[in-house]
Amino acid sequence: MFAMVVHGGAGRWDGEKLKYAKDVLIQSAERGIEVLTGGGSPLDAVEEAIKILEDDPIFNAGTGSVLSIDGNVEMDACIINDEPFVLGAVIGVRRVKNPISLARLVAEKTSHHIMYGDGAEKLAEIFNLPFADVITESSRKRLEKVKREIFDGEAEFSKFLEKTVKLIKEHPEMFMGTVGAVATDGNAVCAGTSTGGTTLKLPGRVGDTPIPGAGTWAERGVGASATGIGEGIIRSLLTKRFCDLVIMGMKPDTAARAVLDLTDYPVGIIGLDRSGRVGVAHNTPYMPSVYIAVKGKEREVRFYGISL
Ligand code: ASP
Repeated sequence: MFAMVVHGGAGRWDGEKLKYAKDVLIQSAERGIEVLTGGGSPLDAVEEAIKILEDDPIFNAGTGSVLSIDGNVEMDACIINDEPFVLGAVIGVRRVKNPISLARLVAEKTSHHIMYGDGAEKLAEIFNLPFADVITESSRKRLEKVKREIFDGEAEFSKFLEKTVKLIKEHPEMFMGTVGAVATDGNAVCAGTSTGGTTLKLPGRVGDTPIPGAGTWAERGVGASATGIGEGIIRSLLTKRFCDLVIMGMKPDTAARAVLDLTDYPVGIIGLDRSGRVGVAHNTPYMPSVYIAVKGKEREVRFYGISL
């Protein structure tokens, strides 16, 4: 049995973009399944599936990542495998084309679990990971638009903060589009997440994605990836709680819905257990996600969070 679930971020998507995102998510999940059925590990499957999503500027990860308030990009990614336990995360990288691959390098080539900034990119250089200019014209325009909306007529700093929070809560579409994947080959389970973070974040802000147990977790036959406003995911440790509930016997789809009750923030989660059971839930209008399972000759494909 092989199963793979991928998401393209919780939030609001407009119709045309959503259609396109769905196609890329199908390609990504199919690639993961191809890796698994070809004898690759869930780690390989998650890395390959996420690379496809990072390389497409429609998603807020890798190329096309959203920008911090100063116009720079700071990307986070994390990959975790349950058995053997593998955990690697990177924070605030700017130039590496596929942060998920760098997260894997941290796990496999260093004695650490989490690395940030220049130090992490030095590792990418040593191992010849490709570098790219991940800032696109449309991410620049999006930042300018949001800044204009915030700054017009506003002078006081306190008001600015208040408005930012309000804006973010009312318009989650501004920053959603993170990507995530969970894969199993019937034994191990691996989860990965990659993001540019949230638009208008302060330089130096770290979201949930690279925080083990918040945006990404895998343990004892269960794995999950979360998306949405990272601060809400950090304070409710969404993916860790999901895994705990499934380990204790709850079905993944019930557990996914249950953990959403822990937060008022706009968030979503995808998860799998090693028997291929899937859980997908979000409290945002969309969270385009694709699930594919292969059991012998049977093949099942399901779509979530996409209503076109
Ligand atoms: N969770 C990500 C963060 O807060 C954003 C997202 O999922 O789109 O960095």
